[in-house]
Amino acid sequence: DSIGADFDRTVRRHPDRDALIEHRTGRRWTYTEMAAEVNALALGLHRAGVGKGDRVGVWAPNCAEWTFTQYATAKLGAVLVTINPAYRVHELEYVLTRAGIRTLVAVPAFKTSDYAAMIEEVRPQCPDLRDVLLIGSREWERLIEDGRDADIAVLDEIAATLGMDDPINIQYTSGTTGFPKGATLSHHNILNNGFFVGELCGYTEEDRICIPVPFYHCFGMVMGNLAATSHGACMVIPAPAFDPSATLEAVAAHHCTSLYGVPTMFIALLNDPGLASADLTALRTGIMAGSPCPVEVMKQVIDRMGMREVTICYGMTETSPVSTQTRADDSLERRVSTVGRVHPHLEIKIVDPATGVTVPRGTPGEFCTRGYSVMLGYWAQPEKTAEVIDDARWMHTGDLAVMDEDGHVSITGRIKDLVIRAGENIYPREIEEFLYTHPDIVDAQVIGVPDTVYGEELMAWVKLREGAAELTVSALREFCSGRLAHYKIPRHLHLVDEFPMTVTGKIRKVEMRERSVELLG
Ligand code: ATP
Ligand code: MG
Repeated sequence: DSIGADFDRTVRRHPDRDALIEHRTGRRWTYTEMAAEVNALALGLHRAGVGKGDRVGVWAPNCAEWTFTQYATAKLGAVLVTINPAYRVHELEYVLTRAGIRTLVAVPAFKTSDYAAMIEEVRPQCPDLRDVLLIGSREWERLIEDGRDADIAVLDEIAATLGMDDPINIQYTSGTTGFPKGATLSHHNILNNGFFVGELCGYTEEDRICIPVPFYHCFGMVMGNLAATSHGACMVIPAPAFDPSATLEAVAAHHCTSLYGVPTMFIALLNDPGLASADLTALRTGIMAGSPCPVEVMKQVIDRMGMREVTICYGMTETSPVSTQTRADDSLERRVSTVGRVHPHLEIKIVDPATGVTVPRGTPGEFCTRGYSVMLGYWAQPEKTAEVIDDARWMHTGDLAVMDEDGHVSITGRIKDLVIRAGENIYPREIEEFLYTHPDIVDAQVIGVPDTVYGEELMAWVKLREGAAELTVSALREFCSGRLAHYKIPRHLHLVDEFPMTVTGKIRKVEMRERSVELLG
């Protein structure tokens, strides 16, 4: 089905259920009310000349209008280009010109970001850019009023022309390892993935999903929005950008049954002074994903936040995104320490990255996946696409994984983050997991730094619990001694308050490595 048809079916089934709530502003929409906004925006954009295949950019932190734009463009068969709100003029211009964006929907300003001014600055260099619609502006209101007056039958006519494998979305990857790449995705790609995520979380129209992760990324717009609307569940936006106390308040105020986050967000919630008094009794499930999910953090999410059915998903933008997910009936041990089993209707295999041959169970190799979820390709970059999708349509993820006898997968790290010390392969993930067991360590990240003797040496960046006594490198080595093999014990230690991060909340090890080289002089 198309995203629009699926949404309309939910509106017919659950017309009076809550669809969307903005916690901070108190604005809320039932499915009937949301459909009215989506249809008016779709018809308004249609009148303004937006048609099938046209690129429409959306550049804003999380807000209801973002979601309306997502569904309105899907109904028109336009290609929604989701733009990271942290971008500045250089990156904005790159995306606008690369994707050939015709219409840009943006928030005028947020916090210290003057989006309107940045758009004006790049506009002369972007010949494809015809219309800029600032959310809440007079033009925006007028376009929607036009849409309300238009004949809704137009949308049915357009719906009949949509192809489920047509591009519908260009989503940029997080840029964890370099410049973000524009993954081009279809209705079939993202709607099915959102639907299966919702199935595995057991969503019904009774669920209320708190979504503090950004919409511009697949975690928000597919695992959040599409999973919700394909099940009649409600989307709750705690705040435009991640804010731990707003998230806890939103869960309590709207009786959220599900909560999403990358590990760093859950770490922040677990350390928030408001956690003890927050009423999280409605929370049943949720998703942790996006980067390695530390066992300790998962355990605490279950014990201290009551998210007894919380799942872990693994995937990437290029695969719509989810490839594997833990199931509620997996053992607790597996639910906290693996990324689960293959998702419905997909294939996965673990191969030797050098030879491409499938490795035996229990042996690390590159995670590959095939099926409906694999993207159409990187937008206008066929040579880049060919580097990751082979002739048999297998997507090579660049992630290292191990599969056990029953098909449960553990991610051991990214191929690029693998440290090779004196010929010994070291998976930083394993050491990070161990460091999390230290009572004073809140967050730990391990990287390889160049070393003249061993080729590479390990360096740990550590964030300590507030009020903890200073940790020295010798004390840390003492802690590891006898419990980790000698070559896995970090040689260098750097104490930090923050890690270099992407907006999706992922730690940029590339930047950590660069800064470490400077630090070590
Ligand atoms: P870029 O490709 O631009 O460098 P990115 O790979 O971080 O950035 P995304 O598509 O947002 O961009 O993230 C996908 C990656 O996130 C995966 O390839 C994997 O490395 C990591 N990841 C996602 N989920 C998990 C998980 N549950 N456990 C470990 N790693 C994960
Ligand atoms: Mg990637």
